[in-house]
Amino acid sequence: MIEAPAPAEYDSPLYRAALAQLDETARLLNLDPGLHQRLRHPKRTLIVSVPTAMDDGTTRVFTGYRVQHNLTLGPCKGGVRYHDDVSLGEVAALAMWMSWKCALMGLPYGGAKGGVTVRPWELSRNELENMTRRYTSEIAPFIGPEMDIPAPDMGTDEQVMAWMMDTYSILRGYTVHGVVTSKPILLGGSLFRREATGKGAVHIFERACKVWRRDPAGMRAVVQGFGNVGSVAAEALAALGAKVVAVGDRTGAVRNERGLGIPALLAHARENGGAVSGFPGGEPLPLEELLAQPCEVLVPAALGNVIHAGNAERLACKVVLECANGPTSPGADAILAGRGIEVLPDILANAGGVTVSYFEWVQDTEHYFWEADEVEARLRKVMARAFDAVKSLSEEKRVSMRHASLMLGVSRVAEGKRLRGLYP
Ligand code: NAD
Repeated sequence: MIEAPAPAEYDSPLYRAALAQLDETARLLNLDPGLHQRLRHPKRTLIVSVPTAMDDGTTRVFTGYRVQHNLTLGPCKGGVRYHDDVSLGEVAALAMWMSWKCALMGLPYGGAKGGVTVRPWELSRNELENMTRRYTSEIAPFIGPEMDIPAPDMGTDEQVMAWMMDTYSILRGYTVHGVVTSKPILLGGSLFRREATGKGAVHIFERACKVWRRDPAGMRAVVQGFGNVGSVAAEALAALGAKVVAVGDRTGAVRNERGLGIPALLAHARENGGAVSGFPGGEPLPLEELLAQPCEVLVPAALGNVIHAGNAERLACKVVLECANGPTSPGADAILAGRGIEVLPDILANAGGVTVSYFEWVQDTEHYFWEADEVEARLRKVMARAFDAVKSLSEEKRVSMRHASLMLGVSRVAEGKRLRGLYP
């Protein structure tokens, strides 16, 4: 199969991982080489400078990105990340994964992602607002409810979405609810969006446990990342009767063999700027030991590429529930498969967020809002349908859940491209 080199600008460990997955999936699908090449290239990319007025009267210039991987099945959808690791290559990989995820879930969207290279925890609220508004105004010609709809990701939240929505609306001259999702409820947000990614992942885990005939009650869980996604996943696992024995974040990790009290840990994090370190209900654990803690289910819910060929042998879990995007490198995937560790892959496991974002966009379009239980019931249905399709394809083709998820996602985007044809 001929493989066009991806543009060198995107080259990065995460983009190489995304390409390796795509190339292997194309081989499994026996994909047309022309379609394969088109999928290796993001459709378009915007790099912007984000001059920001700081509280001390100085100006700092940050770099921001928005990458649209494809618009074949509909407008693009994808989060905005604020972190000092953000780079063009990382954003491009995340955009590609959004394409496969939206297609896998049957959503009428293409994939995109955005980000700003910044340490948001070092900015004041005023500086964060200034930066967000300037980033939004720089990417405004590139986004919109019919074109590309951002949402939160690491380092961004409902408040950031409110500022983005307000800035975009001011530029248009009228209120545009549908330009971003995961907004505050009062501004057109959806009930159950905040919980959707973490709870959706745990729905997938529950469904997998049924297939494996294992009871989640009493299982030990280890969670990396205690933000939007990790904290909700930890709560939902505890609600199933699992024992969350270790949790780590940017600031450190804590461990308690008898189970960390999640409500108390949530309260501690709320009072300490989101940090889990210093929690009195557990003992401190070196962060580099977190992923190797013995448990039944390991939940990466922070950065990408944290499980790699260098540490995959040390994992002491039975299942990896991928809440983060791209937490496992292709090399590590092969090692985990050889060790009999099941991976519930990111584009399936963490798709609850984008699915409820889709529901939010539909509600914004209709100006008619649903009850939380209706949103959750619809989410469960979509997640269950996707899980069942992935499971049956993985059995039929004797491939991993990762490969089956990618085969479904990639083949739908490729089929959309084939039907639409190549212009001109
Ligand atoms: P968040 O900013 O709310 O939380 C991120 C967490 O990761 C924080 O607890 C932070 O301290 C921790 N973290 C940061 N760097 C770390 C490091 N080096 N080691 C350990 N922990 C570290 O972000 P989030 O929205 O919860 O997103 C987490 C992951 O889930 C990301 O990979 C994101 O792409 C993915 N995701 C998020 C959503 C969503 O709806 N928010 C949807 C799908 C996937």
